[in-house]
Amino acid sequence: MTSQKHKTTHRSSQGNRDFRNRTKRSGQAAGEQKPRGAAQPHTGMATAQPAIILKAGREKSLLRKHPWIFSGAVERIDGTPASGATLPVRDAAGNFLAWAAYSPASQITARVWSWREAEAIDAEFLRNRIANALAARAELKLADNSSGMRLIHAESDGLPGLIVDRYSEVLVMQIGSAGVERWRDTIADMLQALCKPVCIYERSDSDARELEGLEIRNGILRGTLPENVEVIEHGLRFKVDVAAGQKTGFYLDQRDNRALTGALARDKEVLNCFCYTGGFSLYALRGGAKSVLSIDASGDALRIAEENLARNGLDATRAEWQEADVFQALRKLRDQGRSFDFIILDPPKFAPTAAFAEKAARGYKDINLLGFKLLRPGGLLATYSCSGGISEDLFQKIIAGAALDAGVDAQIVHRLHASVDHPVLLSFPEGAYLKGLVLRVSA
Ligand code: SAH
Repeated sequence: MTSQKHKTTHRSSQGNRDFRNRTKRSGQAAGEQKPRGAAQPHTGMATAQPAIILKAGREKSLLRKHPWIFSGAVERIDGTPASGATLPVRDAAGNFLAWAAYSPASQITARVWSWREAEAIDAEFLRNRIANALAARAELKLADNSSGMRLIHAESDGLPGLIVDRYSEVLVMQIGSAGVERWRDTIADMLQALCKPVCIYERSDSDARELEGLEIRNGILRGTLPENVEVIEHGLRFKVDVAAGQKTGFYLDQRDNRALTGALARDKEVLNCFCYTGGFSLYALRGGAKSVLSIDASGDALRIAEENLARNGLDATRAEWQEADVFQALRKLRDQGRSFDFIILDPPKFAPTAAFAEKAARGYKDINLLGFKLLRPGGLLATYSCSGGISEDLFQKIIAGAALDAGVDAQIVHRLHASVDHPVLLSFPEGAYLKGLVLRVSA
């Protein structure tokens, strides 16, 4: 996921040419550990200057500034670099392409820090990227009505593998790459100095970490975690379980889409599937929905959802919460002959990568087909996919197939994406992981 933008300053006095010095500095900053199951540098001469050498012709994606170097494109690794080390990436003829963080255990062998040979990948480099990301968020003026915001969106903010979410006075940091892992403490210090949170909490416990060969970590990095972390979003208050909630505790990427739901829900009977802590449900209730049935498999999430409802003084008699598997619950509703005016489907990631796309497509088609069948004529379906492995185009095709099989005609009313604090680096389309459609079925 993510996005990145950004420029860095060029400091020729500390260029990357003195590689040994640079490596030493990085090592000190990092307290770096050898990851479990890490592959040894495969080939190359141990005495050579550490570098990643690509196979002939495999530099094309790098020339287009895509920040990932897949293992299949690598001819050899020179030297004996440690996990997370910054290495020059060279084409088969030896030309410099980029500075990248080495991740020996991952299918993504390295992630690019910079395209400029003269740039030093050091603390100042990171400070510039972080400051740039924070400045971009400040321009969005989200803080006017929301206290939750994605401050750093990994690749798309020029910091591959680093997610930082702000929940009021608390920052949650998630590290998903060996490169960022190496700079963990430096980054925490910078965030502390720049944002002055009461706590920086680390949620480095995503599946992606295992793919990177990194240990799972969950705990306080700086400060003290308040007992009650809350985020205000368009005036609605949500409790955020920073330590045990999903992702970093809340789904900030759906902020704008939740607001749209509020605007569409008036007088409707709403079904919110995969409701988590009640995001879409609360907006719908505030927007004047006649009733909202919310379903999720997680009892913990539903308990917070009910708490959130009370916290906002919303009418509990219009809300019903159901702990169930959505695939089964939709069938049950169909068999009971139930129908709704507005259905929201925001499932978890079915396809983390394109390799899972086919299986994921079956899952999306299944729930959307059932969703279409449960809609009254003229009803709305808001349907989402947060799978990086499913493109926007493919998602639309899956939904079209579901409508066809359900026997309904539908129009696209809105095309939706992640909120503005989740920008997408133009050269990194994978950053556009969240896509959604609001469809209206014919009356
Ligand atoms: N729409 C939510 C975020 C949804 S995240 C928001 O705006 O905050 C996906 C949710 O799906 C999670 O809460 C997870 O518990 C739930 N989930 C995953 N698999 C499920 C299943 N098979 N049935 C029901 N819920 C499921």
